Amino acid sequence: MKMNLKLQSDYYNNLDSFFYQKILPNKFENGELIFLNYELALKLGIDPNFLKENYKIFLGDLDNLKDINPIAMAYSGHQFGHYTRLGDGRAILLGEYKDAFGVLWDIQLKGAGKTKYSRRGDGLCTFSSTIREYIISESMHYLGIDTTRPLAILKTGHPVYRYGAQAGGLLVRVSKSHIRFGTFEYAYEAGGDDRVKQLADYAIERYFPEFKDKRAKYFLFLEKIVDTQAQLIAKWMSKGFIHGVMNTDNMNISGETIDYGPCAFMDYYNPDTVFSSIDYFGRYRYRNQPNIGRWNLSLFVQIFKNLVGESFHQRSALVALYESFMPLYEKYYLKEMLKKIGINKIREGDKELIDMLLKLLEKYRTDYTNFFYELTLGIREEKIFQTKEFLEFESLWMARIKKIGLNAINSRMRNNNPKIIPRNHLVERAIKEAEEGNFNFVKEFLEYLKAPYEYEEYLPKEFKEPMPYEDLVSYKTYCGT
Ligand code: AMP
Ligand code: MG
Repeated sequence: MKMNLKLQSDYYNNLDSFFYQKILPNKFENGELIFLNYELALKLGIDPNFLKENYKIFLGDLDNLKDINPIAMAYSGHQFGHYTRLGDGRAILLGEYKDAFGVLWDIQLKGAGKTKYSRRGDGLCTFSSTIREYIISESMHYLGIDTTRPLAILKTGHPVYRYGAQAGGLLVRVSKSHIRFGTFEYAYEAGGDDRVKQLADYAIERYFPEFKDKRAKYFLFLEKIVDTQAQLIAKWMSKGFIHGVMNTDNMNISGETIDYGPCAFMDYYNPDTVFSSIDYFGRYRYRNQPNIGRWNLSLFVQIFKNLVGESFHQRSALVALYESFMPLYEKYYLKEMLKKIGINKIREGDKELIDMLLKLLEKYRTDYTNFFYELTLGIREEKIFQTKEFLEFESLWMARIKKIGLNAINSRMRNNNPKIIPRNHLVERAIKEAEEGNFNFVKEFLEYLKAPYEYEEYLPKEFKEPMPYEDLVSYKTYCGT
């Protein structure tokens, strides 16, 4: 076990300062450690006790961290379809950490103060938004969805002014990468092809070294990004997750879910579900996520048009690349959905079977998570189970799975149908109580969220119940910056 947090800064910092600003995090003298993610620290090979004793390194006290060069990264992004220059306005990359397997992890402080990319923002986070991100991103991890993870939450002891004064928070975020689609957009728009090449070479060297010496390395890189996005969005959809702000600055090239703002899980199955208070036209509604994935990739891929070559053939190959997203996505999505009903290989007619089921869930306003949970256990409480249409579906389903072993069906369903998701009203309750200084509920909630597929373990009813429909229709989530 490494005793301390040895951070390196010789990776992204080797790029030209065009890509970042060197900057020290704010020093918060009166800050305190609120949550430490022991599991994650141990997974990384960092002694949690070291972090507990030295939490001030996350509050700007860098005396014990040698040779580090924190930076704020530059990036742009298409926000709700419009190009904007952005950058880490309230996040600072403290350094890169190499685990025992040689994997590099970014350790980032969210809410660590102003940078040159802050525009009119204060560079700070509310304590409530850090709790929200901690709960949802940890839950995503345990649901089996690639994501950035929270290592710690701290209170800064410094008020943050939103609608009145609120407690300030700081989230320590760990991820494989903080290179966004928007980082490439920035390189292209502010620098041109040479800058794109520098960034792509860096990203290939760090994340896909197997492509480094290949002639078609940029093409292979893009192919990988298209594939990981297709897999990621398929996972989101199959678990009912709505990211809420799929702007290109919030899409990570590592395929990790990043930037937990107004995201939320769908309760009742309705493909038009949108929670975000700023998504007036439902651009990022549940059903639109794959389309937006394709849209984002079409922009991303075009950035490489001069790097892969100018011939008609090369350009057509690029177009074909992003056009391959939708069929790929559909394949991954169908596979994920079939696992939920115990099937592992796609056969003709399977798509129709899933479509039939989803139409019923929508018609009978059925809770998405609880339906699959009950289906797995053979409980029949949801009213949909009493309908003639469900019985029709069931007989088709039974015929389809007739030749699959019962154990295989059962374990596949148990491993893919979570019994718990971070429901909105519970997240709200956890935040409210934490703001009042009571962390019992957050802790209890997190313990259950860490075991979504443990069917043997008891889960109190309050963690399963959706918000009443009447409340849900008007429920909104906020970026909560
Ligand atoms: P987000 O909506 O969190 O994806 O952020 C979009 C952009 O706004 C990013 O460039 C952020 O760094 C920036 N931003 C968000 N909140 C703040 C803040 N409080 N202070 C400075 N910049 C911010
Ligand atoms: Mg963002």
